[in-house]
Amino acid sequence: MNALADDALLSLWERGAAVGPVDRALLLLGAALPAQNPEQCAGMPIGARDAAILKLRCATFGGRLSGRANCPHCREEHEFDLAIEELLADSPPPAETEIVLDNGLRFRLPNSRDLAAIAHHNDAEAAIRHLVQRCCVDPPPALVWSPSLLEAADMRIGAADIELRLNCIACGKAWADRLDVAGYVWEEIAERARRLLDDVHGLAAHYGWSERQILSMSEARRDAYLQRCFA
Ligand SMILES: [Zn+2]
Repeated sequence: MNALADDALLSLWERGAAVGPVDRALLLLGAALPAQNPEQCAGMPIGARDAAILKLRCATFGGRLSGRANCPHCREEHEFDLAIEELLADSPPPAETEIVLDNGLRFRLPNSRDLAAIAHHNDAEAAIRHLVQRCCVDPPPALVWSPSLLEAADMRIGAADIELRLNCIACGKAWADRLDVAGYVWEEIAERARRLLDDVHGLAAHYGWSERQILSMSEARRDAYLQRCFA
């Protein structure tokens, strides 16, 4: 996978700044898989979508991911720093496109259209119920959605999502939490865009070069000129 070039990154940031999280994730996916059309991207299961976004992130910003997470058992805050390769190996794409529960109910894996359809829920339980019901294939008319059925279905259809698995150093318990891959990578894109705009602003004001001229330079050359501007 190719790294995002600076001008492509700025263009992605510009389009993503005006839309919500689901559409931002699709913009990132489109940049990761330029041969896929928007319909294919929107229909891709979330785990596969996030794996492709992580590969774009590896190519653009490197292969290590760091951040902070709180233990759900004791609330201790942890810093994590892990290899994206390991994260992807821990969450391999599922072999099947359809999940069948023990009771015979069939579910498809959620995609970005499903996340867009449940985005208006403020209540997590209502969102999960809506998602599970949307993804159920041919539910019987009299089906009762008990809490245990919702929980079992949610666990299975979310099993392919990319998870952080950590061990708490304070209470010793292990935990796993879904990683908001697109949100994480979006923050990095926004930070990089802010730095690029600062560079363009500084060099354009000093030398009168165009944005296109400045972005076509290597980062090393831009930095060298910037150092001279402010020497
Ligand atoms: Zn803990």
